[in-house]
Amino acid sequence: MLDLVDLGKRSFSAYRGIAPDEQIDEVLHLAKRLRGARCLHLNATPYGGGVSELLRSGVPLLNDLGLVTEWQIIRGDQSFFQVTKRLHNALQGDPVGLSESEKATYLAHSQLNASHLSTDYDFITVHDPQPAALPMLGGRKGAQWIWRCHIDTARPNPEAWEFLRPFLYSYDAAVFTLPEFIPPNFPISNVFIHSPAIDPLSPKNLPLPENVARQVLEWIGVRLSRPLVTQISRFDPWKDPMGVIAAYRRVRAHIPDLQLAMVGSLAMDDPEGWDIYRQIRDATTGDNLIHVFTNLVGVGNIEVNAFQSLSNVVIQKSIREGFGLVVSEALWKGTPVVAGRAGGIPLQMPEGTGGILVDSIEECAEAVLRLLRHPQEAHCLGQQGREHVRRHFLVPRLLLDYLKLLDSLTHEKPLAPRGLALSPQPSPSP
Ligand code: UDP
Repeated sequence: MLDLVDLGKRSFSAYRGIAPDEQIDEVLHLAKRLRGARCLHLNATPYGGGVSELLRSGVPLLNDLGLVTEWQIIRGDQSFFQVTKRLHNALQGDPVGLSESEKATYLAHSQLNASHLSTDYDFITVHDPQPAALPMLGGRKGAQWIWRCHIDTARPNPEAWEFLRPFLYSYDAAVFTLPEFIPPNFPISNVFIHSPAIDPLSPKNLPLPENVARQVLEWIGVRLSRPLVTQISRFDPWKDPMGVIAAYRRVRAHIPDLQLAMVGSLAMDDPEGWDIYRQIRDATTGDNLIHVFTNLVGVGNIEVNAFQSLSNVVIQKSIREGFGLVVSEALWKGTPVVAGRAGGIPLQMPEGTGGILVDSIEECAEAVLRLLRHPQEAHCLGQQGREHVRRHFLVPRLLLDYLKLLDSLTHEKPLAPRGLALSPQPSPSP
């Protein structure tokens, strides 16, 4: 069996009064129909990056709603994750594809992972390309399979796409964040569009009293008597960390005491992160107004929450982006955002809401300077952003989309009756 991720117990009813009532009611209605369904989510890492954020909240809530849901992680060594990161980059359009030996590494690990899968599920949702080959290589195990692609695959490297494409014939449905992300000659006809969402009750997003947030940041060396801008992202070229530093330096020419925090996580399935981390360090060593923090020095959810709550402006200068959960996280705290006009970011910041969308380092610097110089405008943008997130990007809406998808699949293949399993479920510990 693959490794199960340990999860807490959550109560869906706690979201009433936070998310829109109609979303809550519809989720409860659909969950009744799907009660007892056995679901598995598969991905490559239990921490670091948006997918693990979504599953950490979503899986316990699905259990609370009566769907018997597990989250498992595929196994891989450094060589496998180097290959899958290259595949990820190539699918987002990087011209460097996979060599024959890298393809062989992907296949060998996928075969091994497929052999560890059991047959106990009605629905298996596979997140991203890392585990995508499992149903083709290991058989469908009697389940209905969903491929949830979180990245921007609108213009994939053709050779990498032709490598992955045949594996997708074994799926019953696919989910993308935007219709534009569906790659050419996509082999799955049953395609859904769902945007991700944040959990307003996770430690990262709970309201943090201001004095606590201040102490948290001062503890790690941020001086809150000075203005602060922050980018929080995996250390990844598509998040353009060097562009953030360049834009910040332009703004600092006007606001000399401005601080920049670059907060980045190093994920298990992302060996490239180390190289980017070193590049950032090389570019910033000796500059005591630029702080570089990682999860490895203990900067976790509470610190991220404090950064998103107290920064004057949050930057997310992505040049290619699936969704960018960090944008909704910052807006939920009422903090204005300056972000790259990429992927799912404009969904979160439609014109005039939440902050300013930018297409270059110069625009990024101008936008940050403008928000720092006009705090009232920045405040209004942040407040409108928070309401937009409340309506569209909180976890009940995501669960609703997912339950609708499962429900539609039961029209094709009804759930098998399951006696006692159909009675209301307490949240089982996975
Ligand atoms: N994140 C974090 N610590 C970090 C960097 C990122 O907790 O140092 C979290 C961030 O808060 C967000 C997720 O990782 O919840 C990143 O998701 P996003 O969709 O923005 O980007 P992805 O990594 O999936 O490309």
